[in-house]
Amino acid sequence: MPEENVKVAVRVRPFNSREKGRNAVGIIDMSGQTTIIKNPSTGEEKKFNFDYSYWSHDGFKEAGDGSMLSDTSHPNGKKFADQNKVYQDLGEGVLKNAWEGFNSTLFAYGQTGSGKSWSIVGYGVNKGVVPLFCENIFKGIEEKQKAGDKTEFEVTYSMLEIYNEQVRDLLDANGGNKRGGLRIRQHPKSGFYVEGLLIVPVRSYKDIEQKMDEGTRNRTVAATNMNATSSRAHTIVGINFIQKFRNAAGEDTTKSAVINLVDLAGSERAESTGATGDRLKEGAAINQSLSCLGNCIAALAEKSSGRDVKVPFRDSVLTKLLKNALGGNSKTIMIAAISPADINYDESLSTLRYADRAKQIKTTATVNED
Ligand code: ADP
Ligand code: MG
Repeated sequence: MPEENVKVAVRVRPFNSREKGRNAVGIIDMSGQTTIIKNPSTGEEKKFNFDYSYWSHDGFKEAGDGSMLSDTSHPNGKKFADQNKVYQDLGEGVLKNAWEGFNSTLFAYGQTGSGKSWSIVGYGVNKGVVPLFCENIFKGIEEKQKAGDKTEFEVTYSMLEIYNEQVRDLLDANGGNKRGGLRIRQHPKSGFYVEGLLIVPVRSYKDIEQKMDEGTRNRTVAATNMNATSSRAHTIVGINFIQKFRNAAGEDTTKSAVINLVDLAGSERAESTGATGDRLKEGAAINQSLSCLGNCIAALAEKSSGRDVKVPFRDSVLTKLLKNALGGNSKTIMIAAISPADINYDESLSTLRYADRAKQIKTTATVNED
């Protein structure tokens, strides 16, 4: 029986200063699992249902580092979702799966500035799912070890970006770039992988934090008019969690889980960012990966409804690397990040539609145990 292994969450961020400056009006409303978007010109409303809907509002306080601190009150009494709430809903399930040997992929989709990095990585004290997940995996290991558990634990970390359909190793400051990107190879059993990608063992949360900072520093940042500091690349963090132990029958057993955390490049079309020349080419390549992801999601949704269609995983770097995640060997969570403002109506609607299609995918995850 196919199990529902794709979960979709939508998260609306507070108004940003650009929106406030343009006196933007809110067009998103949420109630339970329902997200409603209102067309600012016609007033027409569209309703979507997702596994999770995360509301935020503009009553935020600025933190010292320029980021926003959460304000737990809400004028309409709506529940406001902070980083911990999102982690509890989405990250804890991923953690539980990892302990059981299931792969998981969490990815964030949305236009630039909509809150993808905020959700996946977070900023400063407002830790996103990745740091909270990493913190908790080591907490769990320590607890087991304190309790005298003899399991051998291994955690590895890798970080790459896909930029113009080229893969760069973010933990290798020059290597990947010099060779014009790393090659993608196919393993007969485990599928597509990046040849030569550094996969570093990490022994503590501090190790991971250090690697993450290193990777973030190496990231390609090309400004667009949308957001001067936003990355135009897809970033994939890979965490491998391996447990070696002796099972009840006295046999040496390995349980391993791969966790992919994907911060996608902005989903906006190149035109809307005022991009020209090189930037435009970048936009086109980014959209090649993203539109291919969209095509794969659409095909998988059709497959889930019983039709025999080919899923074009091979058409982009991103979908090759996410093939296992989307194709059934993984629990998958998508966070669709949206702006609350009328001026971003088109992009928000397109993100909600994308997420709606992802919701229709049904896969069965398999456990990695031998
Ligand atoms: P993206 O990665 O999609 O380009 P970011 O995650 O960097 O966008 O978000 C842009 C800014 O919006 C962040 O710097 C942060 O201050 C703010 N932000 C985004 N999402 C939230 C949220 N859920 N709560 C509070 N602030 C947010
Ligand atoms: Mg970002």
